[in-house]
Amino acid sequence: MLRVMSGKALTYHIIGGGIAGLAAAKFIKEKNIKNKVVLYEAAAKLGGRCFSFFDAGLDRTIDNATHVILGANKGVINLMNRPEFSGKAKFFENGTINGKFWNYKDFILLSVFNTKADEVAPSLIKKLAFKLFPFLPNRLKICYSKGDLTSKLIEPLSRYTDEIKLSHKLLDFTAENDKISLLTFNKSKVPIAPQDKIICALDAANYSRIFSGPKFEFNEIANIFYRTSTPLTLPEDSKFIATPQNTADWIFINDDIVAATISNSAALTEGDDELARKIWIEIRALNGLKPAFLPSYRVMRYKQATIKQDGKNNRLRPCSANTKFKNMKLAGDWTMKNWPCCLEAAIQSAKRAVK
Ligand SMILES: Cc1cc2nc3c(=O)[nH]c(=O)nc-3n(C[C@H](O)[C@H](O)[C@H](O)COP(=O)(O)OP(=O)(O)OC[C@H]3O[C@@H](n4cnc5c(N)ncnc54)[C@H](O)[C@@H]3O)c2cc1C
Repeated sequence: MLRVMSGKALTYHIIGGGIAGLAAAKFIKEKNIKNKVVLYEAAAKLGGRCFSFFDAGLDRTIDNATHVILGANKGVINLMNRPEFSGKAKFFENGTINGKFWNYKDFILLSVFNTKADEVAPSLIKKLAFKLFPFLPNRLKICYSKGDLTSKLIEPLSRYTDEIKLSHKLLDFTAENDKISLLTFNKSKVPIAPQDKIICALDAANYSRIFSGPKFEFNEIANIFYRTSTPLTLPEDSKFIATPQNTADWIFINDDIVAATISNSAALTEGDDELARKIWIEIRALNGLKPAFLPSYRVMRYKQATIKQDGKNNRLRPCSANTKFKNMKLAGDWTMKNWPCCLEAAIQSAKRAVK
């Protein structure tokens, strides 16, 4: 429900239609329902790194990547339409299940920060511990996306915009007197009136390119989706399971779709087909089964899934939403120094930028 506050109505230009840009639209309307929100997105669809699509090969709607949301991620949960939690993480190792997450600290750091545990910046680890502490079961509960990122997050948020301009790629800008006065897109030039506001919700790479920002390093994430002939079961009937000894880090079940996630996956040497076969064998082995024929699958690899979350790259992140332009604020997962690059950070960054 929209909590509406009053104030002078303004026009906001949001650049980037990922979760940060879309969440910003909601927070802008909460400030004043009469504010006008125009959103510009380079792609032909909304969502950025978080969306669902119909995969014709699998004949199912899947997400671009299985997104894990913790009970502690209040910002995401508040925006989602009744998220369904599937319990706490269990770790499958040496043929048995272990629920003691503290034994898997390095593995958890890799999963959360998409960066090798020994490289993760200590300030990021501190922030994570602070957010989760006390380690109450509710904070550690896990909800994962099931082909519903668009229906539960993207579509509801897109309704807070007045105008969405898809396939509008920002190419350049003009600034006068510390303010941006013109945004140049591939399709049009948009003059910015003196009282208008801009929220720049671009990903780190595009922001750096257009606004001469810091040059980040990035880490990859790979996801593989299999369509099985009957719904698969995991040990102890778990809906999802961590497999720290395997190639895939996590396995998730969503009816007849089995999804595998591999963090920091750039070092993988296998091509898509070989990788899909290897992980399928691992999945079957979880139940002590021999490899059966390979079902239909889809491999999704994101080379720039998140910035590398080590000390060097964390230091390059901004300390606030401010930019050198008085009428432009920053949002996006990478803009929240010390936060893991995730949906929660994207939403919190949007809240900060609008505030
Ligand atoms: C494979 C993968 C797995 C992930 N797993 C998880 C997970 O389990 N849990 C979790 O919480 N998070 C996860 N994340 C991270 C999460 O998806 C991101 O943190 C979040 O989506 C970032 O949102 P954003 O709006 O900050 O950035 P983006 O989604 O990158 O949005 C930026 C937008 O700007 C647009 N844009 C770029 N250039 C221009 C331009 N020139 N003009 C106009 N528009 C432009 C882009 O097209 C994009 O839509 C994962 C990400 C990936 C890729």
